[in-house]
Amino acid sequence: MPTISDLSFPAEGVFEVHVHLGGAVPIHRLYESAVDRGIRLPVQTYDEFADLLHRRSDNSGSLEKYLEIYEVAERIQSGPQALRESVLIALNGAARTGGSTRVAAEGEALVPLPQRLPLTGIELRLNPLKRNGGGIWDLDRVMLAACSGVEELQTAYKGRVQAGLIVCLGRDLPDEQNEILARKTALWASKGLPVVGVDLAGPESANPLSDPVSLRRMAEFFETAAVGRTVHCGETRSINLDTFMATVRELKPHRIGHPLAAARALWEDGDDRGLRMLAERGIVAELCVVSNLLTRAVENVEQYGRLLKTLDDYGIEYCFSTDAPALQKSTLASELELLLSRGAATLDQLERSLVSAARCTFLPRKAAPRRRSSDQSVVSMS
Ligand SMILES: [Zn+2]
Repeated sequence: MPTISDLSFPAEGVFEVHVHLGGAVPIHRLYESAVDRGIRLPVQTYDEFADLLHRRSDNSGSLEKYLEIYEVAERIQSGPQALRESVLIALNGAARTGGSTRVAAEGEALVPLPQRLPLTGIELRLNPLKRNGGGIWDLDRVMLAACSGVEELQTAYKGRVQAGLIVCLGRDLPDEQNEILARKTALWASKGLPVVGVDLAGPESANPLSDPVSLRRMAEFFETAAVGRTVHCGETRSINLDTFMATVRELKPHRIGHPLAAARALWEDGDDRGLRMLAERGIVAELCVVSNLLTRAVENVEQYGRLLKTLDDYGIEYCFSTDAPALQKSTLASELELLLSRGAATLDQLERSLVSAARCTFLPRKAAPRRRSSDQSVVSMS
C-alpha cells in the first residue's frame, strides 16, 4: 500500500488553499485566549469546551451542525489583537509541522521528514465582519491586524512559506454587510495587503442563491471585490443543479468548494451538465476529505473514491485542503493518507491534485499560468 512517503511533489511545493481561520487554531489555544480575555463561554469547563469544539461524526452529520460552533471560535478571535494572534497560530501550526500526519500536544511533528508535506503556501480564509464584535472594533483595523500576522509569518520563515487571506462573504449575512465586505476587500487588496481572494461561505440553507435577484447582487459583490474568486457551492442538497449552474455562471469562480451537487446530479439523475460546465470553464474543485465526510457531503471514503473518479472522467482538476484542521484534529498529510490507505485515491491522483493546487493558488507566484478554458478537453465517461 503506497503512503505519503511515496508522493512526488511539484517544484513549487505544496499549497493548501481552503482553510478557515475559525477551524485552524488548536482548541486549547482558543480556550486560553478566551480565559485571558474574559470571554463568556457556553460551557463551564475545559473538557466540555474541548468536547464541544472537536468536530467528529457524532456531533456533525450536516453542514449546519458542523458550522454550529464556529460562532464560539469567531467570538474568541474577535478584535485586532486576538485576530492577529490567531492568524499567526494558524499559519505557524501548518508551516512548522510541514503537514505532518501527527502533531504532539506541544506542537511538534511526530513523524520523520519524508512523511511530511513540503508546505510552501497557505491561503487562510475568514469573515472579518464576524470578528469585529458587532461593530465594537473598526473593520479596517481588524483586517490590518490579520494581514500583519500574515506578513510577520512570511518574514519569520524567510520567504520559505507564503500566505494570503481570502475574505469570506456570508450566506447568513444581509446584502448590505456582504457589500461592505466586498468593497473593503477591493480596498485592502489595492493597498497591497495580502488579501488574495473572495469566497462565499456559511450554511447553504440560509441563502442558496436560488433567487435570481439575490444571485445577481452576489455577483456584483464578487465583481466589486476584484480578487481571486472561490465559492462554497453544492456541498448540501439545499443547492440543486440549476442553482449550482446559475451560481457558477453568475459568480464566475476560478475555484469552487465542495461541488458535490454536480457529481450527485450525474450519479442520481444521469445529468452531467454541472460537471461539463466545471470542465469547460477550467474550474478547480476544492475538496476537504474529513470535513466532507463529517458534513455527510460525501457519505463515506468509498464514495470519495467515486467522486475523484467522476472528476477525472470529466477532466476536472481538484485539490485537497483541511478546511478546519484544528477542530477536526487532522492535517493535510493525514487526510491524504486516509484516502491512500483506504484505496480511495491513487498516488497519481494525489500528485495531480498537488500540481493543481500549485497552479490554482491565488498567492502571487512565478509558476505557470492558470489553465484557460480553451485548453480544456472534456473526457467522456468511461
Ligand atoms: Zn470551507
